[in-house]
Amino acid sequence: MSTRDAKIDTRIIHAGRAPEDHHGTVNPPAYRASTVIAPTVRELNERGKKRFDHVVTYGRHGTPTTFALEDAVAEIEGGTHCVSVGSGLAAVTATLTALLSAGDHLLMVDSVYGPTRAFCDHTLARMGIETTYYDPAAGAGISALMRPETKVVFTESPGSHTFEVQDVPAIAEVAHGGGAVVVMDNTWGILTFQPFTKGVDVSVQAATKYIVGHSDAMLGTITCADKDLFLRIRTSVALFGFAAGSEEAWLGLRGLRTLPIRLRQHFDAGLRIAQWLQTRPEVAAVLHPALPDHPGHALWARDFTGGCGLFGVALKPVSEAAVEAMLDGYDLFALGYSWGGFESLVVPTHVSRTATDWPHQGPLVRYHIGLEDPSDLIADLERGFDRLGSPA
Ligand SMILES: *Cc1c(COP(=O)(O)O)cnc(C)c1O
Repeated sequence: MSTRDAKIDTRIIHAGRAPEDHHGTVNPPAYRASTVIAPTVRELNERGKKRFDHVVTYGRHGTPTTFALEDAVAEIEGGTHCVSVGSGLAAVTATLTALLSAGDHLLMVDSVYGPTRAFCDHTLARMGIETTYYDPAAGAGISALMRPETKVVFTESPGSHTFEVQDVPAIAEVAHGGGAVVVMDNTWGILTFQPFTKGVDVSVQAATKYIVGHSDAMLGTITCADKDLFLRIRTSVALFGFAAGSEEAWLGLRGLRTLPIRLRQHFDAGLRIAQWLQTRPEVAAVLHPALPDHPGHALWARDFTGGCGLFGVALKPVSEAAVEAMLDGYDLFALGYSWGGFESLVVPTHVSRTATDWPHQGPLVRYHIGLEDPSDLIADLERGFDRLGSPA
């Protein structure tokens, strides 16, 4: 049965799965492999030519477990080809280094994930690749920053700390007009933003987050809808020696099957909590694109079919000690990086940007709403505001 035309909840159950290849077991096992033995020299050589076509040749080039994950992610992202790597950051850096050479220029959104920014400023700069940061709200206005040597326009929408939403289709049109490839970090928009219908050429996922979904593995994916572009990136991934571990890919596949149902709960509970936070006197702004008064709401409503459980809160100006007292004392919100797991998390965040000013004066806090009962989470947040005290 082909499930390509079925709804996403149905497709995700079948994507990348081939029980007949694994003695009928519902899930493929975690193939642990370095060496893969061939019966003849001819076969060894023939297989080698197909190593980027999901033929098993050597552990570093993938196993049936990583291939299954890649097929599934390609399908849910709406692309045709996917490669998995050891982390979300590796997916970003492998993509950028595959597409950029010395003398090239990169347009990078100013709200980008911090380590991506650090990679541009540290490694790409050292390799002679210049980065210009652009306003997340620029839209077609990035045309003013395009140069003949601009080879990549990188988007991340919404940003995972400031939650600004980008006009990706408008940006993509300008980028393509100038011959640049559009890369998107689509971690926040997994399942709810279909990158390849919005002009994106390469979609990167920190699969560590919602795909794995249980805070117990590091994983990244790079998906394309064009085979030639994919092979450029796939070759680079192979030459760097980046590879996802089979155990991690297996955990990614396990997480993926329940992704739509988890995501809806994260999103619904998150939105309810975001609405409650808007009523609090301590809060200057809730940074959640599904709230009607969010500056990116219209773009979100146009381009996304939902969201996830990650959003920010800009507090009214208050002492650092008060914020620490609020965060340290939570019972249900654990202090920790990352997001996308079943549990609620909180971190204080700091906006670092160079192209644009950040409008909020007070401290920023980022919440990940997990799968706990939202009324318990609201009670925990309420006690937190007691520790924070009244705004100055
Ligand atoms: C976490 C994250 C990454 C990096 O993923 P890792 O798997 O932690 O390397 C990249 N982009 C975004 C938006 C993230 O939140």
